[in-house]
Amino acid sequence: MKKNECIKCSVSQCLHNLVTEDYCSLSSISVGTHESDPTVPECTDCNSFVKRDGCCQ
Ligand code: SF4
Repeated sequence: MKKNECIKCSVSQCLHNLVTEDYCSLSSISVGTHESDPTVPECTDCNSFVKRDGCCQ
């Protein structure tokens, strides 16, 4: 796993997260929204998220 210093992320439940540091390991990610008219950060989603085995049960 290689740290991508351009993508900070604290979602340790994601398979692509470094966990030991708050960074993503992917070379790029896809971000989207689940809202029709997003207004705050909470309206956005990382669509590259993949659940890490053994968490979120
Ligand atoms: S894929 Fe998205 S949620 Fe997963 S570590 Fe990378 S930025 Fe975070």
